[in-house]
Amino acid sequence: MTPKEAIEFAKENGAKMVDLKFCDLLGTWQHFSVPISCLNEESFEEGFGFDGSSMRGWQVIHASDMLVMPDPNTVFMEPFCEQPTISFICNVVDPITKEAYSRDPRYIAQKAEIYLKSTGLADTAYFGPEAEFFIFNDIRFDQNERCGYYFIDSIEGRWNSGREENPNLGYKPRYKEGYFPVPPMDKFQDLRTEMVLEMQKVGVVAECQHHEVATGGQAEIDMRFAPLVKMGDNLMKYKYVIKNVAMRKGFTVTFMPKPIFNDNGSGMHVHQSLWKDGQNLFAGDRYGGLSELAFYYIGGILKHAPALCAFTNPITNSYKRLVPGFEAPVNLAYSSRNRSAAVRIPMYSPSPKEKRVEVRFPDPSCNGYLAFAAMLMAGLDGIENKIHPGEPLDKDIYSLTPEELKGVPSTPGSLEEAIKALEEDYEFLLKGNVFTEDVIEKWIERKRFEASEIQLRPHPWEFALYYDI
Ligand code: GLN
Ligand code: MG
Ligand code: MG
Ligand code: MG
Repeated sequence: MTPKEAIEFAKENGAKMVDLKFCDLLGTWQHFSVPISCLNEESFEEGFGFDGSSMRGWQVIHASDMLVMPDPNTVFMEPFCEQPTISFICNVVDPITKEAYSRDPRYIAQKAEIYLKSTGLADTAYFGPEAEFFIFNDIRFDQNERCGYYFIDSIEGRWNSGREENPNLGYKPRYKEGYFPVPPMDKFQDLRTEMVLEMQKVGVVAECQHHEVATGGQAEIDMRFAPLVKMGDNLMKYKYVIKNVAMRKGFTVTFMPKPIFNDNGSGMHVHQSLWKDGQNLFAGDRYGGLSELAFYYIGGILKHAPALCAFTNPITNSYKRLVPGFEAPVNLAYSSRNRSAAVRIPMYSPSPKEKRVEVRFPDPSCNGYLAFAAMLMAGLDGIENKIHPGEPLDKDIYSLTPEELKGVPSTPGSLEEAIKALEEDYEFLLKGNVFTEDVIEKWIERKRFEASEIQLRPHPWEFALYYDI
């Protein structure tokens, strides 16, 4: 869409305000709005100014003025504003040099697409994330700095202790059996449908919605695959729509990977494939119907997985999900059958168009732009250096003995471990200037800060273990 067409679209829809949205370093949408009279064709070249100093991980105070540049292709009507409002997803630039801001995640994703084309290996990388989430009635924090105890009230009658509690609401999914009996066991059919319909209005195609394994209203909505930047945008819209629809109906949603102890966490399996001239380069006649190139891609993902986790599993809570027994991968291996492997080759369809690899360790707390870009860079590194992923692991990895598991590396055990892995392995991200040293440094600094913030606070369970010591 051209700027002119985007302005036409705003007029046709009677928009009175323009909402400008951009993604911060950690993956949250930020926004401000201007009256429709401020929007003209020049706006798309001149941008709109804002103070970037208060953004987590962005400019320092002496250089805080920044601009957002609306992308006319991203225009949509706001579904959650009472007054007619048109929305744009924006890039962030320096107001003086007019250069793109190196810490703008959307720009990093755009550079990854440019880098892909420059290699001549492929012209398009497709991504299809399955971002799971929990729906709760209410969440209460006791912000008391000394204890910080919290609890969650779930409509399905399950509390954060991991035990069944009163009130007995009846028809509640049994432990680990939320996947997926019909209503009245499933209480969120209409809510998820409403989310799907709102997604359609903002241009996100959802292909399936369902309850997930965990109680606490765990859910999943699957979007149709799309190229990297487009899927980065779609994932932002996905979370926005889901949270707002939930809020409208008096619920709250979390994309935290492990909100409930001792039940399944929320993953974000990411399906990926490379295409050139309309052909799927991952289809071939090797194991699982994949091509040699696809194997090297897997090789790159597995080799760099510990460092990737700093972007794909970027919060301390991520590592409470990556433990055995909850359908989350722990071992860095691949398989066509095995859902306990970090990389799976889905076999639903023999069609070459659908051949893809499913990377299962990421979780929905990640910044999609950064996580997709980082995985693409790892996969491309695998192809460029012909990194072989080894033999497939077609056994149930959870049931293997420690002896049998020898030599199979595992995912990092904590955010600190992932950060350390990134510190030691980030050259592959710098190719084509996709990630810059500055971004890697800032990311590490921010994530170390988060890890230490958690480390410093007495944990409620420490009271259970040690109070009477
Ligand atoms: N919730 C599981 C995870 O953490 C995935 C379950 C599934 O979709 N099969 O990855
Ligand atoms: Mg799924
Ligand atoms: Mg799922
Ligand atoms: Mg999956």
